Amino acid sequence: MHKFGYKNKKLYCEDLKLETLVKKYGTPLYVYSENTISGHYESLKRAFSDLDTSICFAVKANANLSILKLITNIRGGFDVVSQGELRRVIAAYGDPGKCVFAGVAKSAEEIEFALEKDIYCFNVESEAELLRIDKVAAKMKKKAPVAVRVNPDVEAKTHAKVTTGTYKNKFGVAFDDVMKIYTRGQKLKNVYWRGVQMHIGSQLTSVKPFEQAVRKVAPLAQKLKQKYKIEFFSIGGGMGIVYDPALESGKPEWWKTPAAEKTITPEKYAEAVVPHLKPLGLKILLEPGRFIAGNAGVLISRVEYVKRTAKKNFVIVDAGMNDLMRPALYDSYHEIVPLTKKSGKLLPSDVVGPVCESADTFSVDRPLPSVSEGEYVAFMSAGAYGMTMASNYNTRPYPAEVLVKDDFHHLIRPRQMPARMWESENVARWLKYVRK
Ligand SMILES: *Cc1c(COP(=O)(O)O)cnc(C)c1O
Repeated sequence: MHKFGYKNKKLYCEDLKLETLVKKYGTPLYVYSENTISGHYESLKRAFSDLDTSICFAVKANANLSILKLITNIRGGFDVVSQGELRRVIAAYGDPGKCVFAGVAKSAEEIEFALEKDIYCFNVESEAELLRIDKVAAKMKKKAPVAVRVNPDVEAKTHAKVTTGTYKNKFGVAFDDVMKIYTRGQKLKNVYWRGVQMHIGSQLTSVKPFEQAVRKVAPLAQKLKQKYKIEFFSIGGGMGIVYDPALESGKPEWWKTPAAEKTITPEKYAEAVVPHLKPLGLKILLEPGRFIAGNAGVLISRVEYVKRTAKKNFVIVDAGMNDLMRPALYDSYHEIVPLTKKSGKLLPSDVVGPVCESADTFSVDRPLPSVSEGEYVAFMSAGAYGMTMASNYNTRPYPAEVLVKDDFHHLIRPRQMPARMWESENVARWLKYVRK
């Protein structure tokens, strides 16, 4: 459960009125709820308390240093997919010894950096990568902890762009080839097998694919434990969240929500997979990103103009696809609510941003309360894959980010100053002198 809601018609994050933050910091503005993040973490930890579990937050979901420090404070580990993410974790006082490193394209430089920092494990996505890790480790006179990311060929039944565990995807090692790699790796001098990993996709709203994948990979994990003394089995992330709670009553008949209204709970998830995991006696890693941070954040935006045409009611806001890319990239649904609760008729509205792309659209003909210039709206559930995907497209500065706990708050990233957007660029020397 998240901690955003109306009190006396004003939208709050925990005990803080969002309007206060908007007045202080302007828009577009990301706001995160600390108690929501730690609550999600604890609920997952509790659901899996029958096992020796370690929760490794997927940094790519939300990489702000304050969020990473919060995860560190509540004793979480991290799932990183680049040297940059590992450096962020370290900058946030996180322990590299609690980091797993995934990704299909780890460069020699990234491997060397991670080895130097003594990360917990490399999740290897190909045999070529395993050989490269062995080579880099040899050069450093080290032994690298490794695990294979298994591609179990299970349909995750989620959006095609976030499915990762079928043979059509670039990720992991095909289930049938996994044993061969472990045998091969055993002969290498500078790696040792520490575990086995999988991650079948993101925003999964049913436990079935998880259960299917765990059931398929568990016997393999058992075998690897006997043969190579592996100590962990990571079952990845992917738990889906509710993007459309349909809590706003009064949606007209003609509006059919495309989004899932139900998703899995930590309890249901644990119920489905723990029976397969418990007999293994292995340490179980979870790599949630979206589940932890997704509905712990909102993006607040100001209505700049309302443009009524014969066909449409456009609500033009000051946040764009460069601030929140999910709708443009995945046709994702984000609930849009005004900061001041309104009564009255709902109007089919296209909420659009300022970017010069037709994809810069947050809703199409969605029934929304009528809002006017100068009012504010919040895009709900924007805490994961929001700010981390933001760009400077259209030379628009990065939005500001605020962390809220109870009734206090901290600006955890100020709005980017315009000149910062081109500060590292320079004009080629021969362009500097113009012949008159
Ligand atoms: C992205 C990713 C995750 C997190 O996925 P969520 O759907 O956000 O939980 C976990 N593990 C790996 C390897 C990933 O690439």
